[in-house]
Amino acid sequence: AAKQRGNNSFQYYTGKMQQKVLRRMELENIIHQTIEKEGFQVYYQPRVTSSSGQIVGMEALLRLPYNGGFISPAEFIPVAEETGLILSLGAWVLRTACRQNKQWQLAGYPPLRVSVNLSPNQFNQKDLLLQIKETLAETELAACWLELEITEGAFMNKAVATQKTFADIKSLGIHISIDDFGTGYSSLSYLKRFDIDCLKIDKSFVDEIGQDSKDSSIAHAIISMGKSLHMLLVAEGVEKQEQLEFLQKHKCDQIQGYIFSRPLPPAEFEKLLQKQVRFA
Ligand code: C2E
Ligand code: MG
Ligand code: MG
Ligand code: MG
Repeated sequence: AAKQRGNNSFQYYTGKMQQKVLRRMELENIIHQTIEKEGFQVYYQPRVTSSSGQIVGMEALLRLPYNGGFISPAEFIPVAEETGLILSLGAWVLRTACRQNKQWQLAGYPPLRVSVNLSPNQFNQKDLLLQIKETLAETELAACWLELEITEGAFMNKAVATQKTFADIKSLGIHISIDDFGTGYSSLSYLKRFDIDCLKIDKSFVDEIGQDSKDSSIAHAIISMGKSLHMLLVAEGVEKQEQLEFLQKHKCDQIQGYIFSRPLPPAEFEKLLQKQVRFA
């Protein structure tokens, strides 16, 4: 019986592993097919001032439609990274977001900054700078209306190279923000060394605000530290009124979250802009 049990649990684990490998292959196929039929979409989530809820920017977020719904980026982005497909996908997101932003500016809306996520592989590409320059030239978007979001993992153990890449990006006039700040395994010394405009406080710290414990101390500490280094502070994943109030009280500059709006397809986002223009 013992032997049988052993066998079963072995089969159980291989089964799980097999499922994972199969799902990964399936996702890779889906990504390829979606690229083929030009089915990927970009949604936009507003970034607003915490003081007045004014839209000051938006984050471009990649969407993979499938079977009437969407496959989560949390699931497909890692596969896109492992397969290298993220390089062409990421270039496409960058171009799409810049083009869309320019279009809204030409339509007469107050200019906004669009932020685009760069995966570690993209960030470490040799021709990154050239690609960005070409995209800005092609879409005719002024560099100051573009921001790149990078996670700490992208430059772990690469201080010298990263400092150079950041300086290159900054020399074009593009903003840089650190995404999911506080969750990466990295030293804080880079905050002084690298030219960073903005820290995006990870949702996990925002989630702790307003709970019974005094665990909002991390969010508070990040705000204080970022401010003292003259960075812009953005809180991600703000859902509750009490979180917003805490962030207002501690002078977090901007928020992004469902409390204001979910990520929206371009037409829906434009409706928000219209409302804002009308009621401004
Ligand atoms: P991220 O860059 O940290 O993006 C923020 C995520 O939080 C988005 O998830 C957004 O929809 C979600 N979010 C915003 N506000 C709230 C809120 O109030 N509550 C909750 N529960 N969630 C909120 P999404 O769109 O699923 O993207 C997940 C991650 O996938 C992103 O995290 C980013 O790391 C990655 N990703 C998305 N698009 C791209 C892309 O074009 N390129 C790359 N490299 N990564 C991307
Ligand atoms: Mg982001
Ligand atoms: Mg984030
Ligand atoms: Mg993230």
